[in-house]
Amino acid sequence: MFLDRDGVINVDKGYVCRIADFVFMPGIFELLSVAKAQGFLLLLVTNQSGIARGYYSVQDFWNLSAHMQTCLQAKVGFGLDKIYFCPHAPHTCACRKPGLGMLEQALRDFDLNLGQSCMLGDKFSDMQFGLQGGIGLNLWLEGSIEKANFQKLVCISDLKQALGFLKD
Ligand SMILES: [Mg+2]
Ligand SMILES: [Zn+2]
Repeated sequence: MFLDRDGVINVDKGYVCRIADFVFMPGIFELLSVAKAQGFLLLLVTNQSGIARGYYSVQDFWNLSAHMQTCLQAKVGFGLDKIYFCPHAPHTCACRKPGLGMLEQALRDFDLNLGQSCMLGDKFSDMQFGLQGGIGLNLWLEGSIEKANFQKLVCISDLKQALGFLKD
């Protein structure tokens, strides 16, 4: 399972880089627990252009990631299996979503069946990433229903709604 970070794992406050600003989303602990129990690998794919913009450093990103993993370990008993991030500015690389660089790296790291995999994100670029990458189930948190019907996306209004799609 591919997971966006800001707006999915934590509340998107815009360029979140400090521990004090990292607030877990309602329902994320249960969602991750169910996904883990269903056998999904938990792969974070996050655009972090704040690094290229000079708002924070790669080290800041890893410090915050370590905090996230520690909290998850304490709350649900495991952390995410892998963290992929794009530190680049828009239109300068192949790894910023909807580009597929992070997906391609995941395919090198793990034996994945993308058709049975899931992408969960809150931006249309997350959905484009999933669709163009061949991911079977694309869950769009607070997505646009008109846009979704068109594109075989599944809109959900909160993380609890995602549970039903993982359990079938
Ligand atoms: Mg997001
Ligand atoms: Zn990139």
